[in-house]
Amino acid sequence: MKKGVLYGIVASSKTRVRCVFCRVHIPKANKCIEQHTNGAKHKDNIILMTENGMIFRDDELYCKPCKRVMDEEESVSKHIDSESHANWQAAIEDLTDGEYIQLEPYLTSEKEEAFCEVCKKDINCSLQVIESHVNSIVHRGNILEKLKPLNGIFAVDNDEEVYCKVCDAYVDNTVQTILEHIDDDEEHIEWFAEMEDLIEEQDVSLERYLANENEVNVYCKRCDLEIICDIQSIENHVHSESHLNNLG
Ligand SMILES: [Zn+2]
Ligand SMILES: [Zn+2]
Ligand SMILES: [Zn+2]
Ligand SMILES: [Zn+2]
Ligand SMILES: [Zn+2]
Repeated sequence: MKKGVLYGIVASSKTRVRCVFCRVHIPKANKCIEQHTNGAKHKDNIILMTENGMIFRDDELYCKPCKRVMDEEESVSKHIDSESHANWQAAIEDLTDGEYIQLEPYLTSEKEEAFCEVCKKDINCSLQVIESHVNSIVHRGNILEKLKPLNGIFAVDNDEEVYCKVCDAYVDNTVQTILEHIDDDEEHIEWFAEMEDLIEEQDVSLERYLANENEVNVYCKRCDLEIICDIQSIENHVHSESHLNNLG
């Protein structure tokens, strides 16, 4: 995408030009054009466009999610609030929530694809294609591999089960049952909720504990200290004077 002074500016009449992004006419003088394109409103509109999949194409403002050229009177912010655009936004967020799908490549360029981080591939960013992708066996399997080390899930000798360190329990080794355990098991979810509450903004990391089966400690980055991973010990530590006085 070119982003020079004339980005978004098109000819209008002998004496005036038009800014497609801001829906305004400007006198056709370099100074006026520069003043406009350096202005806050123009810059804000460009940011909104980039965040929302609107591009400058053939001297028009085109919305990729809505697949249409925008009306000349329709402002960028008004379009974002419009029903069709807002519906798309809500639907795509719903579909991609927790799925490691990056929408930025689609929203910020002419590309028609989003990027799936776990499958490491481009996917056409239509609701239908995204929906079938996130439900595909390959994607679910890749999501699971990504989530295992974040959830304390480990392979065991027999291939029929996996071990959840957090719950000290065995779970059937299928993509669906493991994902169900991670998303829906009450004990599992509660442990994470309680832990996250406890370590929020405390610089305490569970990462190594969850990813390594034999690790018994969590790590306090602020104190450069290992703490045994149980609620009581972590609670004592984050309330201890040494931790509280240690600002890292
Ligand atoms: Zn403008
Ligand atoms: Zn739109
Ligand atoms: Zn994928
Ligand atoms: Zn568990
Ligand atoms: Zn500490």
